[in-house]
Amino acid sequence: PKRSPFLHPGSRTTPDSLAIILLSRDNLLPVYPKEFTGEHDGYAEGVVLNTRYGSFPHSTLLNVPWGSQVRASAVDTGSRGRKRKRNAESQQQTPADTPRDTPNEDSQAGTGTDAAPKKVDIPTSSSGFVHILAPTPELWTMSLPHRTQVVYTPDYSYILQRIRARPGTKIIEAGAGSGSFTHASVRAVYNGYPTAEESSGGLTSKRGKVFSYEFNPDRYAAMKKEIGMHGLEGLVHLTHRDVYTEGFCINGQSPEAEAVFLDLPAPWEAIQHLTRRKPAPTNGKDGQDKVVGSNEDSPKDWVSPLNGKQSVYICTFSPCVEQVTRTVSAMRRLGWVNIEVVEIANRRLYVSRERISLRMSPDKRGVQHAPRDVNEALGRLRHIHDKAFGRNKRESSSMEVDEDGDEEMGSDNNRGENGAAGGVESGSTYADKPWMDGQLITRTEGELKSHTSYLVFAILPREWTEEDEAEALKKWPVGK
Ligand code: SAM
Repeated sequence: PKRSPFLHPGSRTTPDSLAIILLSRDNLLPVYPKEFTGEHDGYAEGVVLNTRYGSFPHSTLLNVPWGSQVRASAVDTGSRGRKRKRNAESQQQTPADTPRDTPNEDSQAGTGTDAAPKKVDIPTSSSGFVHILAPTPELWTMSLPHRTQVVYTPDYSYILQRIRARPGTKIIEAGAGSGSFTHASVRAVYNGYPTAEESSGGLTSKRGKVFSYEFNPDRYAAMKKEIGMHGLEGLVHLTHRDVYTEGFCINGQSPEAEAVFLDLPAPWEAIQHLTRRKPAPTNGKDGQDKVVGSNEDSPKDWVSPLNGKQSVYICTFSPCVEQVTRTVSAMRRLGWVNIEVVEIANRRLYVSRERISLRMSPDKRGVQHAPRDVNEALGRLRHIHDKAFGRNKRESSSMEVDEDGDEEMGSDNNRGENGAAGGVESGSTYADKPWMDGQLITRTEGELKSHTSYLVFAILPREWTEEDEAEALKKWPVGK
């Protein structure tokens, strides 16, 4: 089968295979670079990606090592091209950080071996650039086309380890939505593509697999297409269905799942199908839920979607606590144990080094400015040097205390990581390590993003029958 760029990205971009374009830290675009086959859409250069940082013919994005910086090209826009470009620009989100209109040499990827990122130089009248990154589930989550609300990285990384998704796990996921969780979970369970023999042998093999369900026809179709384009066929089994009424078995076969993730409006309606034996229907004594009561003995043709030889781990994802209580109630009635509710409060910490020199000239509002010119920078550096080495103290004494009254570097208050003073230590300098210059500081995100959802975790223990016990005794005899 086609190999997934998420699992086997290779060393460079290839035609029609997903690449992530990094415009700025929070602004990423998925692109499937097309080979040049002649004029396209008014562009003599073929297919062109237009961004606020310039135009990028797909031919310039192809066969480049991952991590490369690609510079914008002057393209022959023609009138149609100009119109397209305007449309594309107006659709672009404004990135949260500073616009970059000129190439930033500092962030240029290094050159080296054939596969190492390199700068691709294209004659250009525009000075912008982008970086081109290999797809990962995290980058896909940041760049995917939103069809629904999605599960974000801080949540899915925690969920996947709590439900013990690991290479070889079979995981049930509903609904598929925009596929954010699907991509993260397929990487977690991947342990190779199924062979032709394994594929013909029914639903399961020793290969990890994601069984994904979606009842919205448009989202199902879009997901199906993405799975194909991302080389995930054989690893993600997508089914178009309403899991509340139809459950999780496929043509009477069991996915034999060991892990379950439900991101649905009414998880309790799906949980009734996640049992080991056929559940007994009840009329819903609480007057609302069609949730079933205790398990009853299953008829011979009833098939559980769960692995009968292992404990099963579940997580449900719900924004309201009312949904949580109904979910917990259904879980309790169906024998799920160790039920626990978790809320992830994700916080982003910005860590950087604050250069002493920048702290020396706050304006009236207390904002610190970079030196205006080389002379000012040199003056500040001279001052720092003098303070550190005790020379020319007399001349610099008027600047010994910052304008904001702070003590300067070298004092214990200003010690950064490992107890080292930021900037210059007495008797030694970081001249050879510019990244160590300055005091290490952290800043939290201005506004704390509140919770996205409550996570309910539970375990359905494996059942142990007389036959299991007899089998175990044969393997591991007790007593003599
Ligand atoms: N977890 C997904 C992601 O990370 O992209 C987002 C899931 S989205 C919030 C919920 C999805 O469940 C929607 O696409 C909806 O169509 C689907 N859904 C709702 N009820 C369903 C049902 N009974 N059976 C199958 N899918 C259902």
